[in-house]
Amino acid sequence: MNIEVINTGSELMLGRTLNTHQQWLCRRLADLGYVVTRQTAIADTPEAICGTVREALGRADLVITTGGLGPTSDDLTRDLLAQMLGRPLHEDPQILEKLHNYFASRKRVMPVSTRVQAMVPEGAIVLANDFGTAPGLALSLAPNPYRAGHKAWLVLLPGPPRELRPMFQRSVAPLIRQEFPHSCPYVCRTLRSMGLGESLVQEKVEKHLGSLVSRGLDLGYCARPGRVDVRLAAGVSEATEIVTQAEAIVRRELGHLIYGTDDQELESVLVETLTHRGETLALAESCTGGYIAHLITNVPGASQVLRAGWVTYSNASKSDALGVLPTTIATHGAVSAETVAEMARGARERAGSTYALAVTGIAGPTGGSPEKPVGTVFIGLAGPNGVETLKQNYPTDRETFKQLTAQHALDWLRRKLA
Ligand code: ATP
Ligand code: MG
Repeated sequence: MNIEVINTGSELMLGRTLNTHQQWLCRRLADLGYVVTRQTAIADTPEAICGTVREALGRADLVITTGGLGPTSDDLTRDLLAQMLGRPLHEDPQILEKLHNYFASRKRVMPVSTRVQAMVPEGAIVLANDFGTAPGLALSLAPNPYRAGHKAWLVLLPGPPRELRPMFQRSVAPLIRQEFPHSCPYVCRTLRSMGLGESLVQEKVEKHLGSLVSRGLDLGYCARPGRVDVRLAAGVSEATEIVTQAEAIVRRELGHLIYGTDDQELESVLVETLTHRGETLALAESCTGGYIAHLITNVPGASQVLRAGWVTYSNASKSDALGVLPTTIATHGAVSAETVAEMARGARERAGSTYALAVTGIAGPTGGSPEKPVGTVFIGLAGPNGVETLKQNYPTDRETFKQLTAQHALDWLRRKLA
């Protein structure tokens, strides 16, 4: 089966928007057992849109476009493709009513231009947009005018990620499963790990998976700073059994290094665990500048868990806000086990939380010394049984340093609670 994804938008060509749809859609499709054969990003000009979709239909069974369904003059996809395929547009009263309701509920006047989003090409399936105004569209091309003897589906999705993603999950994934059924079941499981590099993860698990690979297990690794995902998939008749067995082996080998599955983030696992235990957290951040608090507050329900967070960047603020003794800083330095321990203890006491995490380090590129080179970071964890500290070294760019430090701190607490 050939699948092509076409991302439209001049902002993609200008480097103003990162083409996240490309990665997100390929990932979702792959997890459903459909591998994209070609991805194209184009400006939203009539020539590019029509030319590229026509070419793609000349090869593919499924073509997915993104962007250009909105109400502005640069949103041309719907009109152009309807015209190209000879599918006259009709105004859909149901969509129109939804548009009116959308604006009424926000106490806003509906601009006239919005109405074009209610136009539907003849025979198209309307894909509801729960998070915006432009619905998606799915067109069955049977026959496919650009590929003799074949049928195809053309799916048009809106540009904004918060609209496209739920629409894909709710409407497009079921449509694809129904229209392009697998001859065998397809099962995919991702196990997410922290604490070992990609080659070490591979070394630990691969030698035990050989026989499952020969039975059809597809084994993949995806490394990001500090983390490695192990992807286990199979598309054979005994797929469920194979993936279940493989998961058990990987879990046995990696143990507590696995923090979650599929799309779970470390911070959501931690928030979930703390919520479940009825425990709370406080944060005292220096070198991460609030990044740990940002991660935690990205999780719905974080208010159950996060009591308070401090960004204490200066020495004075470490003392004023958290009660770190000036003599501790003077004797051991702001980046030291002693200081981070006092930060964690101070945050826990002041917030009245069960745990507190504290971090202080040298992000660089300047400020390092022979004893404490750039990348040195101390993490403190205060809990009911006292305070512990940990020293790490991440000599990298500032942003990656913040990410790695934050992840390590969160993962340390996660493992303590496991
Ligand atoms: P709208 O109704 O908002 O105009 P639309 O369906 O017309 O939606 P576009 O105008 O193409 O879509 O894009 C709207 C916004 O969605 C862009 O400004 C951009 O922020 C985001 N977007 C579009 N394409 C992508 C992409 N490939 N990856 C990530 N974000 C994207
Ligand atoms: Mg638009």
